[in-house]
Parts: sequence; structure tokens; C-alpha cells
Amino acid sequence: VLGDGRARDAGDFSQLTWRQRPAVGQLHQHAAKAGFRYGVDLASRDSATVGGTIATNAGGIHTIRYGPTRAQLIGLTAVLADGQIIDTSSAAAPVSAGYDLAALLAGSEGTLGVITAARLRLWPIEPVAAVLLLGVAGIEPAAELYRRIRAEVPGLAAAEYADAAGLELVCRVSGRRRPLAATYPGYLLLELTGPFELAALDLPDDAAVATERADQRALWEYRERITEAIASVSRPHKIDVSVPQGVLGAFRSELDEVVRATAGGTSEVIVFGHLGVGNLHVNILDQNPDDVSIDAAVARLAASFGGSVAAEHGIGRAKTGWLGWSRSEAEIAAMRAIKSALDPAGMLNPGVLLPAA
Ligand SMILES: Cc1cc2nc3c(=O)[nH]c(=O)nc-3n(C[C@H](O)[C@H](O)[C@H](O)COP(=O)(O)OP(=O)(O)OC[C@H]3O[C@@H](n4cnc5c(N)ncnc54)[C@H](O)[C@@H]3O)c2cc1C
Repeated sequence: VLGDGRARDAGDFSQLTWRQRPAVGQLHQHAAKAGFRYGVDLASRDSATVGGTIATNAGGIHTIRYGPTRAQLIGLTAVLADGQIIDTSSAAAPVSAGYDLAALLAGSEGTLGVITAARLRLWPIEPVAAVLLLGVAGIEPAAELYRRIRAEVPGLAAAEYADAAGLELVCRVSGRRRPLAATYPGYLLLELTGPFELAALDLPDDAAVATERADQRALWEYRERITEAIASVSRPHKIDVSVPQGVLGAFRSELDEVVRATAGGTSEVIVFGHLGVGNLHVNILDQNPDDVSIDAAVARLAASFGGSVAAEHGIGRAKTGWLGWSRSEAEIAAMRAIKSALDPAGMLNPGVLLPAA
């Protein structure tokens, strides 16, 4: 997980070691050579490191199928604040003897130890049968359509949503053609593996269906290029929240109200993200980037719907004051106790994750 960038593979796949912070994309390429896939994939695959994604418990596009990073961890090696090394990755480690320290370090954002190696679960490659891009009347109809298709296609691997403004911006900035004949308030992208019957899915006539790899990639780009398209026109407020499936529509409607009330009528709101698990990236354009009151208002709204103030990017330093909106006092007290037991001098990532006492 830490080292000089070259993978050393002595022929034994399970013993592959990198000597420098490998990116998630490198792990994918290596796993594919052996006929496997890694369960976490994200648009930042070429820059996000394996260590960083463990430290933030990253989610990504395939969380509905394989779970987040924590679910991929068999074990890890970490250096603790006092210099002791823990290695929980031995194949022979008893799984029911004491605390799961690997799971604890996943999502700890570098506050409990430095992860130096990880033993990760790999999955058999499941060929992508089709990628579908469908126009929808908004996030709530998108969620209903997702639930219906999920019930019919057990191998559904990704379900992503984008507001029309996000997809339109990708077309405008990159010169791509619109993917469908008409325009819609929102778009749902689905990745299907395994057998399925297209006719049985009862899709609208105006649907893009890609069965060839190049066409599938092209449909994915409408979703994965939204972040860079937004960045090319604005310095947006980016808020990474999660919201339970059943209230996605209500959250989206209230979001516009909250933004109007907090920021006035001039802001554009673009929501996109991992609909299947309710992880949403809320982007607010045309606002003073240094005024974070709008970020806090959106996070508080997500928390009021029973969601989380941080879906998959972690708390970092900027959001420590929001932690209590999603986690109880007792939970935060337990986290503090763990932090002070493992790092009493507060040397590891001071100011990250936990609010000042
Ligand atoms: C276009 C784009 C799309 C993205 N999509 C997603 C997505 O779909 N899902 C998602 O979850 N994220 C997504 N991200 C966010 C980003 O990729 C994640 O936050 C990633 O998990 C962090 O990895 P990193 O290597 O950049 O870590 P860094 O940002 O370098 O570090 C993150 C935190 O982990 C700590 N850390 C890093 N390495 C270690 C280590 N070895 N041991 C202990 N602590 C460590 C750091 O100190 C820091 O606190 C996206 C980002 C971009 C730009």
C-alpha cells in the first residue's frame, strides 16, 4: 500500500506487493489478468489509492453488488501511533476472537494508524451484459424504476442517477451528442451482469442499450464526466451525503427549498450519484466557494431524513462539526475513547474526523 510504484509479482497472485501507493485502477488491471475483479470501482480509479480508499471506506459504482471497501477487507497491516505493528491479514487468523481491527481502521481516515498493507477479497469477473441509460421524471421515479429492475435482474451491478443539468453539462463541455432522442428531468444508468431478458424489463422506447464494451464505456462517460464538466465551468460546493432510498424524492424536493432559503435564487443545484445505495453528490454552482453555510444546510437536511453527513468521502477536517448530526453522543464518546487509547498524544491526523472536545 505504501512504496515506489512498481508491482512485484513473483507469479503468485496472492502475494502481489506494491512498493508505492497503488491506485485502485492498478489493482483492477492486475486482478483482471488473473480473471478476477476488485469490488470497489470509482471515477477517480486512476488517482485514488488503495490505502486512501480503505482509510475513507470508499464506496463507488459497484457498492450495490459487492459492498463498500470495508466489505473487501480480509485483513490489513498497520503501524500504530506507538510504533507497534498490527497484522490482521494472516489467512489462519481466527475470525471470532476479539475485535475486528481491520474493520475499525477502514473509515478511520488515518486517525488510528497508517495502513501499510492489505489483503483484499477479489471476485470472479462478471461480464457486463448491458449498460442502459434511461430518461426519468426525477430521482423518485428513478428509484422506483431501479427497485423494479433490481427485483428482476439479480446481477444488477450499478445504478447511478444524474439530474438533467449534469448530463447536459457533459454534452456541452465535451461536445458529445445527447444519448436519447428526447430530454428528461433526470437519467438512470444501470449496469447489468448475468442473464436477463431485455423485453421482460418493460423499458421505455427511448432507452439507450449498450451491449458492446465500447458502447457501454461511452454511456458510462455521461455519468463519470459530470464532476470534471462541473469543475470546468464553476468552483462548486460539493457535498457528499447519503439518504435512505424511500425518501430520495422528498430530500431532492426539499433540497431546492433549502438552497433557495440559504443561498438565494441564483444557485444551480446538480445532484448525481450512486442511487442504488442512496449516496448522492450534491453540487451547488454559482455560490461564493468560501461560504460553507450552504454545505452545512445540505448536510443537516440529509441528516434530518435519517441519512449521513458523509456518504463515502469521509469527515476530514471540514465536516467534524457535523458528525453529531449523524452519530449519537454515545457513539462519538466511544470513538473518542478508541482514539485516545490508540493515539493518546493525538499525533495521527490531528483535527480529522472527531470534533474538538
Ligand atoms: C472524479 C471523482 C470521483 C470520485 N468518486 C468516488 C466514489 O464514487 N466513491 C468514493 O468513495 N469516493 C469517490 N471519490 C473520492 C476519492 O477518490 C476518495 O475519497 C478516495 O477514497 C480517497 O483516496 P486517496 O488515495 O485520494 O486518499 P487521500 O485523499 O490521500 O486520503 C484520504 C484520507 O485517508 C488517509 N490515508 C490515506 N492513505 C492512508 C493510509 N495508507 N493509511 C491510513 N490513512 C491513510 C489520509 O490521511 C486522509 O485522511 C471521487 C473523487 C473524484 C475526484
